[in-house]
Amino acid sequence: MSKTIMINVEKLNKSFGNLHVLKDVDMTVKKSEVVCLIGASGSGKSTLLRCINFLEIKDSGLVVIGGEKIEKETHDLNEVRAKVGMVFQHFNLFPHKTVLENVMEAPIYVKKRPKEEAKVEARALLKKVGLSDKENVYPSKLSGGQKQRVAIARALAMKPEIMLFDEPTSALDPELVGEVLATMKELAEEGMTMVVVTHEIGFAREVADWAVYMNEGRIVEVGHPKQLFSNPKEERTKNFLDSVL
Ligand code: ADP
Ligand code: MG
Repeated sequence: MSKTIMINVEKLNKSFGNLHVLKDVDMTVKKSEVVCLIGASGSGKSTLLRCINFLEIKDSGLVVIGGEKIEKETHDLNEVRAKVGMVFQHFNLFPHKTVLENVMEAPIYVKKRPKEEAKVEARALLKKVGLSDKENVYPSKLSGGQKQRVAIARALAMKPEIMLFDEPTSALDPELVGEVLATMKELAEEGMTMVVVTHEIGFAREVADWAVYMNEGRIVEVGHPKQLFSNPKEERTKNFLDSVL
């Protein structure tokens, strides 16, 4: 049985003014796959993720999510964003809300969920990310790793079908990276469909089903992580890996 296609991007183009950032990008991600996206700063990785959950609107091409071709004219983009959760490098937690309130916020205000139900679910998510004891704490009292785990719980509270991670560990002190990657690995093992921009090659090797190298707005190489990282076919991939490893 072939797996359901969760994300299908075809000939995606996006420019900012004169800057052509995404150039005919094609990518297909099936259910429960984990894809790691690597590439130099400025190569268009964040823009690609943002076009997939419509934080940015593509100029041309197709974005199909869960079999549905999404267009800003015909779709409620808030619904698309609920289906496609995103975790950023900077956690963007609400500073004046407790950890629990941060996780409850979107289900209550966006999905109009009853407060008590949202609270029960938020507590379950905090347990899942190992932060049950922090529910009444404000974000300023958390470590970076804890903040990022709250951000993951907050994205999961919308019950997304897909999770996008944009360099989720690159703002963290090295000793805090592991706990966030462990949370992401758990999510992958539960079958979440994930696209992860990361230079944590160890994580990519261990968790990703395949990896993508992007350069100057194009996908240059796609492969199994073990192949792509150890034995890249393209000279540009090799040069990039030599610069980061
Ligand atoms: P990456 O995530 O790979 O570092 P980005 O997708 O963030 O790359 O950016 C690709 C290019 O697009 C960069 O040159 C960046 O400066 C530019 N860019 C990204 N977002 C915007 C924006 N909102 N307005 C103008 N330029 C942007
Ligand atoms: Mg980026």
